[in-house]
Amino acid sequence: MTYGFVLTLMKLLFPFPSHKRIIMRRIDVLILGAGAAGLMCAMEAGRRGRKVLVVDHADRVGKKILISGGGRCNFTNLHCTAENFLSENPHFSRSALARFTSADMIALVERHGIAYHEKTLGQLFCDRTARDMTDLLERECAEAGVQIEVGVSIGSVRHGEQGFTVETSGGLLAASSLVVATGGLSIPKIGATGLGYDLARQFGLRIVECRPGLVPIAFDNADQEQWCDLSGTSTEVVARLGTDKWKPNSHTRRSPNFREKLLITHRGLSGPAALQISSFLTLGTTLEIDLAPGRQILHPNLLQNTSREASALLIALRAVLPARWAERWLRLSLSEPVPRQLSNAAIAALEARLHAWQVIPAGNEGYIKAEVTVGGVATDELDPRTLGSRKIPKLFFIGEVVDVTGWLGGYNFQWAWASGFCAGQIC
Ligand SMILES: Cc1cc2nc3c(=O)[nH]c(=O)nc-3n(C[C@H](O)[C@H](O)[C@H](O)COP(=O)(O)OP(=O)(O)OC[C@H]3O[C@@H](n4cnc5c(N)ncnc54)[C@H](O)[C@@H]3O)c2cc1C
Repeated sequence: MTYGFVLTLMKLLFPFPSHKRIIMRRIDVLILGAGAAGLMCAMEAGRRGRKVLVVDHADRVGKKILISGGGRCNFTNLHCTAENFLSENPHFSRSALARFTSADMIALVERHGIAYHEKTLGQLFCDRTARDMTDLLERECAEAGVQIEVGVSIGSVRHGEQGFTVETSGGLLAASSLVVATGGLSIPKIGATGLGYDLARQFGLRIVECRPGLVPIAFDNADQEQWCDLSGTSTEVVARLGTDKWKPNSHTRRSPNFREKLLITHRGLSGPAALQISSFLTLGTTLEIDLAPGRQILHPNLLQNTSREASALLIALRAVLPARWAERWLRLSLSEPVPRQLSNAAIAALEARLHAWQVIPAGNEGYIKAEVTVGGVATDELDPRTLGSRKIPKLFFIGEVVDVTGWLGGYNFQWAWASGFCAGQIC
């Protein structure tokens, strides 16, 4: 057995060594999680002269930032408002989003000379690489005197009159403020854990049930058989919830309605339209898809030569759908045997169906593929201006761990920056 092997074994068996436990390090602000929210909070608190330590169990900071936006980090959205978020309380995010806006983030990015561009729908991406964003955050933290320690496991967390004590693999830490910025459950292979939710529960804070969001949708077996050989084909649609499922004031104020690309995968549906609507789907919810948004396709007078034959319908459908998709849709929509001539009523029914394809998903591809976690620490437990706990003084929850979940398009990072900024002003 080599010395290195024994050392690794000892670290695994005793992650919180007793000799380090005796030496207690004191800091003003301890931040758990070196992601977008944690680092933003750290640099703001550091600038105020607070002694800040950020710890993370991953081997480097901002791993999710690095994989975000296809490696280019869609770091904000020009049109970000509270309407772009799901939450039990649709107003909760308003205060933080107003205190640190997308314009503030753009100003920060520009101060660091990072080149960026608008891709679509107000989504801003780095021109070069997402690494520019982690470099920015690390530079800001260094300038604000923030200490960052990675590869640190977190053990027990206690709260007493003196503040918080946290057992870590790097020793015992004491802090007057504790900021939980450990993110959601998506992509466990790069370090996502439920630590933030466990801590919230430990301190008696309510959790809104979590589920994967911005996640590919899984078809049931029948839909898989009917559609999945068309995997890779895409078209622009409007995706929305089946009308029976929409309850105003639950999670978001407006009925969600996304006009974006929809992609058939080997398991179900993906692409921006599917990811967006997935955040609103719970088991058994009907998904409704308009395959020809804003266009009338199958009207007797609009068909070629005013023919009422299925072949004329197919030609018309190909104007809005990829050829194989159009053929499949028509075959599945027409009853057998296909009549030689379709009646006006039959054509009208097909047109209506084209604008309201009903899918009842079997589920989704889970946290392995999800970009975010919907749900989290209940907003009524937190002060919307500071993100501080209403029950435990100087305990803060920021970023994705909170029950505030953005749409696809840079909104989740904007929430991470804004919530981190607010906690950073007071922690
Ligand atoms: C593939 C992908 C692409 C995305 N692209 C975009 C995008 O382009 N635009 C956008 O707005 N949003 C995007 N998102 C969502 C966005 O990345 C998150 O919403 C955002 O990173 C949340 O920030 P956070 O700081 O709250 O959490 P995270 O960034 O997840 O940071 C949490 C940190 O806590 C650490 N941690 C977790 N558990 C523990 C523990 N037990 N002990 C110690 N440390 C712990 C983690 O290692 C991590 O560093 C994407 C997400 C994914 C998965």
